[in-house]
Amino acid sequence: MATTSFTAPKLSSPTFQTLCRNLPLSLPIPKTLSSFSFHLSPFLSRFHLHHHHPTPRFHPRRLFAVRAESENGAEPLRHYDFDLFTIGAGSGGVRASRFAANFGASVAVCELPFSTISSETTGGVGGTCVLRGCVPKKLMVYASKYSHEFDESNGFGWKYDTEPKHDWSTLMANKNAELQRLTGIYKNILNKAGVTLIEGRGKVVDPHTVDVDGKLYTARHILISVGGRPFIPDIPGSEYAIDSDAALDLPSKPEKVAIVGGGYIALEFAGIFNGLTSEVHVFIRQKKVLRGFDEEIRDFVGEQMALRGIQFHTEESPQAIVKSADGSLSLKTNEGTIEGFSHIMFATGRRPNTKNLGLESVGVKINKNGAIEVDEYSRTTVPSIWAVGDVTDRINLTPVALMEGAALAKTLFQNEPTKPDYRAVPSAVFSQPPIGQVGLTEEQARKEYGDIDVYTANFRPLKATLSGLPDRVFMKLIVCAKTNKVIGLHMCGEDSAEIAQGFAVAVKAGLTKADFDATVGIHPTSAEEFVTMRTPTRKIRQSSESQGNMGHEAKTAAGV
Ligand SMILES: Cc1cc2nc3c(=O)[nH]c(=O)nc-3n(C[C@H](O)[C@H](O)[C@H](O)COP(=O)(O)OP(=O)(O)OC[C@H]3O[C@@H](n4cnc5c(N)ncnc54)[C@H](O)[C@@H]3O)c2cc1C
Repeated sequence: MATTSFTAPKLSSPTFQTLCRNLPLSLPIPKTLSSFSFHLSPFLSRFHLHHHHPTPRFHPRRLFAVRAESENGAEPLRHYDFDLFTIGAGSGGVRASRFAANFGASVAVCELPFSTISSETTGGVGGTCVLRGCVPKKLMVYASKYSHEFDESNGFGWKYDTEPKHDWSTLMANKNAELQRLTGIYKNILNKAGVTLIEGRGKVVDPHTVDVDGKLYTARHILISVGGRPFIPDIPGSEYAIDSDAALDLPSKPEKVAIVGGGYIALEFAGIFNGLTSEVHVFIRQKKVLRGFDEEIRDFVGEQMALRGIQFHTEESPQAIVKSADGSLSLKTNEGTIEGFSHIMFATGRRPNTKNLGLESVGVKINKNGAIEVDEYSRTTVPSIWAVGDVTDRINLTPVALMEGAALAKTLFQNEPTKPDYRAVPSAVFSQPPIGQVGLTEEQARKEYGDIDVYTANFRPLKATLSGLPDRVFMKLIVCAKTNKVIGLHMCGEDSAEIAQGFAVAVKAGLTKADFDATVGIHPTSAEEFVTMRTPTRKIRQSSESQGNMGHEAKTAAGV
């Protein structure tokens, strides 16, 4: 549904009458205007006269960007510089701004100057994902995977006269050149969409005004999409620790690194540094890594990573970092002290960038973790101010920020109120081996559905038969016993992120185990296991805990 439509005129519409009352007499109304009907969403209950666009470009919808601030005529007319002013040009901000501009809105976005390390004063167009998250991280994962592949290759007949050498500075230079290219592409995307990009730090002054380094801009709507930044707990010596921003841009290879934290970022960096031949120690407060993930996946990935040489220190909390005269670092925990680290990285969570944004003073509610509270449409407690992405701390992933940004643009400028849909959001951990998942964990499924059937497979993949390495794959399907729907799918093993993305469509669509069974496999792959799991490993029934443990299904040899 669009803001305007070419159907029969609805001149009696109260909205149209109100609009006409509010139009100044001198306003040149396009002749064709009377032949359009106005279907305005509840979100567009306030209209203003769109009078100014700093980068004027013809757009058919602009003809209809004629808005008055007040419907009852009591308030004076207000003129805004922009329909939408976005603070933060990361995943969510760029998506919302670009879509809004494509829907005919006049849009500006402000972003901090570029740097690989984020701070109160530095950032860069593209945001965390492009400059300090998904992209550089994945490039580092690619770099680090070769060592395992060199090991695998021996069993396939490859011989190296000398050990392959890795040149750290080549990797960093190529990675940074790629980041520069990407930030340029993002600027271009905004420019092409007609979005005005302003470099500087944005701050909210009132419900319709943003200050960017001393210059004021007014907007009918303000979007806060400032993301978050890594958080290092305040312990003695924490100034010697690095965070994920710095870990992605080290001038040289860390010889021996401690990683504090058991979340996905910690595991990904453990894999990266291990693959690039650093000695890696991971310190976690809990017994297992990846809190919130399926329990069997948590166990499996921990075991596989340990087999690749990563040393896990479980139930150990850091208490202090001490720097020795030779420059090496010691990590003191509740269990003792480990010495000789070249680097200590904290991957202990991220905090929303809501400090010094002027939000509280205009009435935007912020929760105790610093995240902005929003309703299902991403609206804050101030009606003209909206927020998407990590700053709202819903699901902190790039595709989710994109979804929220796109939904908001539709809500505000396409007369199509749209709630982001958080059901069956797939995700991956680019650990080595990686994890892919969609839907519920077994623990969540038990709670939510009671009766479930669980199918698991734990096998040696074909590649490992010749490589001789101890690599294995773990796969799991969780099925609702009542409806036969597949409600959870989990995998840890090579290519699991790619595989889970494909199967996520089936889980999101609510397909049943019978649909999976009716699908022909692709052979020989690991993925085919998801369509050939015939016998449940266990049946969980509310009445009786479990009807026997049938054990993992063993993947049989080629084609059998
Ligand atoms: C190491 C790491 C790895 C990750 N890996 C993945 C992954 O593999 N897959 C995945 O989906 N997600 C991943 N993420 C998460 C992902 O990066 C975020 O969920 C995503 O970037 C959130 O987008 P956003 O728009 O909310 O915020 P951001 O992308 O953080 O953008 C916010 C922008 O606002 C700017 N800004 C802040 N304050 C101001 C201000 N006052 N004025 C102007 N500009 C301001 C910042 O400079 C920044 O550019 C990873 C994150 C990290 C840290």
